[in-house]
Amino acid sequence: MADKVLVTGGAGYIGSHACKALAAAGYVPVTYDNLCTGWREAVKFGPFEQGDLMDRARLDEIFAIHRPVAVMHFAALSQVGEAMREPGKYWRGNVCASLNLIEATMAAGVRDFVFSSTCATYGDQDGVVLDESSPQAPLNSYGASKRAIEDMLRDFGDAHGLRSVIFRYFNVAGADPEAQVGEFHQPETHLIPLILDAIDGKRDALTIHGTDYPTADGTCIRDYVHVMDLVDAHVLGLNWLRTAGELPEGGTEVFCLGTGNGFSVREVLDHSRHVTNRPVPVVEGPRRGGDAVKLVSGSEKAGRVLGWEPRRSTLPSMISDAWRWHQTGHYAG
Ligand code: UDP
Repeated sequence: MADKVLVTGGAGYIGSHACKALAAAGYVPVTYDNLCTGWREAVKFGPFEQGDLMDRARLDEIFAIHRPVAVMHFAALSQVGEAMREPGKYWRGNVCASLNLIEATMAAGVRDFVFSSTCATYGDQDGVVLDESSPQAPLNSYGASKRAIEDMLRDFGDAHGLRSVIFRYFNVAGADPEAQVGEFHQPETHLIPLILDAIDGKRDALTIHGTDYPTADGTCIRDYVHVMDLVDAHVLGLNWLRTAGELPEGGTEVFCLGTGNGFSVREVLDHSRHVTNRPVPVVEGPRRGGDAVKLVSGSEKAGRVLGWEPRRSTLPSMISDAWRWHQTGHYAG
């Protein structure tokens, strides 16, 4: 019987791709998701258990039924704009929910935990290329809540022996090249799916949020990582965690998942026109609150320790996989 991994948020964008990668690596991914932002149809690679992270009794039941060997924790609220308006929702929905999950994990005797954190924990860092040791100074409650969960994992490691791998993601983009799963948020706030919507007329235009940033073309710079590369890192991280001697009891290891290459919003627009061979209607708008000017990361540590290589993370590859999904795949909604 293959080992099971409990995947919170397995019905969401990154979680569903992680389930595909876990299944391909010989694990059974058990999705635990309350479907507040996820899609039942995205759960294709293992069992689905509907439930909320705030429901401790349900969590205990799922651990008892499935006896997972590890937890991958993706479930989270992740919209910066909403986090600026409703911080309480983020502290409760991310921090309280994760505390409940970590306590349930410990109670079930599971010790291996993979957590999806974010470059939003860094805030604005003056344009440097970030790495695992860069100072964290989040600009919004989304980043702050993720940083708090990182701290929680370290504390549970020190006190109770939990072993965790923390991945700080940069901008995740693209889709499963086979278009079995893809990115679909409602409402959508992310750049590439919004560009594709503008290209095929699902919205009037793409609004550039701010053209007066101190960058070469005035727009923000981000480091885009293909979702399939990102989830490959999770499987490598899980296997590394489960290999005897790699991480001591109670250890926590952080890895940045970026490519080291930054692209401006205008550069992403140019690549999108090129890949789809279609015009993109654009309007220039004001800055969006909570946005950092530039977020770019190296991946030296993930490469050195885990053997990770972001092979598919070029803009043409991410945009063409997203475009294929956009045209052929969909969930109800
Ligand atoms: N962006 C934009 N227009 C949009 C959505 C995003 O100009 O409609 C910009 C945003 O300001 C940021 C970049 O695109 O500089 C990436 O934003 P996204 O929301 O995709 O990811 P984030 O960096 O916020 O995690």
